[in-house]
Amino acid sequence: AVRGQFRRISIAPGQPVVLATLQDGSERDALERMRTDFVAYASHELRTPLAALTGFIETLRGPAADDPPAQQRFLEVMAGQAGRMQRLLDRLLMLSRVQMSEHRKPRGTVSPAAIVARVRDEALPLLEGGPASLNVDLPAGLPDFAGDADQVVQVLLNLIENAIKYGSDEHNRAVTIGLRVRQAVPAALMGVVGAGKIHGPEMGGGVRQGIAFTVTDNGPGIEARHLPRLTERFYRVEGSSARRTGTGLGLAIVKHIIDRHDGRLTVDSRVGKGTSFTVWFPFGDGVSLKRHETVIDT
Ligand code: ADP
Repeated sequence: AVRGQFRRISIAPGQPVVLATLQDGSERDALERMRTDFVAYASHELRTPLAALTGFIETLRGPAADDPPAQQRFLEVMAGQAGRMQRLLDRLLMLSRVQMSEHRKPRGTVSPAAIVARVRDEALPLLEGGPASLNVDLPAGLPDFAGDADQVVQVLLNLIENAIKYGSDEHNRAVTIGLRVRQAVPAALMGVVGAGKIHGPEMGGGVRQGIAFTVTDNGPGIEARHLPRLTERFYRVEGSSARRTGTGLGLAIVKHIIDRHDGRLTVDSRVGKGTSFTVWFPFGDGVSLKRHETVIDT
């Protein structure tokens, strides 16, 4: 069985051009093997839009040379392909930077309110793309925690971007960020249908306190079988719009940042209802919790 996607573009009436990306079973298997080889897969992902660009350049030089409306349409498709390459390269660079920082523990102190203020600002361009709203539930007086502010902001932006990108409701993509003081998420959550611990060290020794950011959407949800694999590099859920727009690197970046902070990532997703990602960062040693007698147990 041959599966594929194709797009039909007319250069001029009666001269259709069909661009096809065909994938039969054996090619899919080869891609799956390649996904574990980072360089091979990244090259493959870049080569696809590059091949399309090269093809269009040839067409603009040749068959479409005297057809301004067709040229206009081709240029638009080319801009889309160039944008795709740009997004992929940005993500690859981000992943590489995060990986390089991983052996240095973050030394800064991060204020939750300051993080939220930055996230609100930096999420604005993401919200402009469609009818989405960002709600924030920020309790007063949350303690600071040890972390790299830029990276914590990046984690939240990646989660918000996904919540918007994969939201199913065209008219109401409501994304909510909630912040709470919490203990590390207990391993008991593992194995619960629809909820999965997807990353983080086991809780050993005493209970650790930290701050949990939850990003919740009312999108289509993610089937349980995908949850454990979401943070793998290049992993995208088959059939989702991610096939076309995503890089499969967003959650891999999130995972590396959380690793560096010795934090946790959990996901709770219900198909047809929505998804909630929680990222948890431990407090540094010096944080006093006196003001937080009502710590929420998850
Ligand atoms: P991408 O850069 O392609 O968005 P990610 O690593 O961020 O990749 O996400 C991996 C996959 O997880 C996506 O392809 C998407 O199918 C799925 N996903 C992530 N977040 C959500 C969400 N909030 N709702 C539904 N699916 C999601």
